[in-house]
Amino acid sequence: MASLWRKIKRTGRVAEPAPEDPGLESKAPELGGSVQIRHVDAGSCNGCEVEIASAFGPVYDAERYGARLVASPRHADVLVVTGPVTRNMEVALRRTYEAVPEPRLVVALGDCARNCGVFAGAYGVAGAVGDVVPVDIEVAGCPPRPEAIVAALRELTGR
Ligand code: SF4
Repeated sequence: MASLWRKIKRTGRVAEPAPEDPGLESKAPELGGSVQIRHVDAGSCNGCEVEIASAFGPVYDAERYGARLVASPRHADVLVVTGPVTRNMEVALRRTYEAVPEPRLVVALGDCARNCGVFAGAYGVAGAVGDVVPVDIEVAGCPPRPEAIVAALRELTGR
């Protein structure tokens, strides 16, 4: 155990240095710089999920800016929604949104969430996220890079 502690002390921090402060006002000052996030995959190909995992991994470390993933919409301030909304997920997304206590915000993450992307017009697609629940922030890209995801979350936390 002591050798493990010595190794941790020797290694130090490995996260990338924090990017420059974007100088933005928080878009959710009522949340006090700390946002709890429930992710909803409404029909994604899983590409966006890989980038979300990177954004919260040790290199980009979104948690250091006050953004944290939680398991239940009842514990969340923000929904991060990926993918076009499939017909099977339309009601589930609406109910998940209603389960988030107010004030609540929605991030449409990825081109599919914004405008159905490559799945536009597919028979199983009900629409973009904005067709089902109100969207506050959009993150462009297919998939968005982790830097873009972290930047969007920093707009919410203001940190
Ligand atoms: S935006 Fe691209 S990566 Fe994300 S769910 Fe759509 S196709 Fe997949």
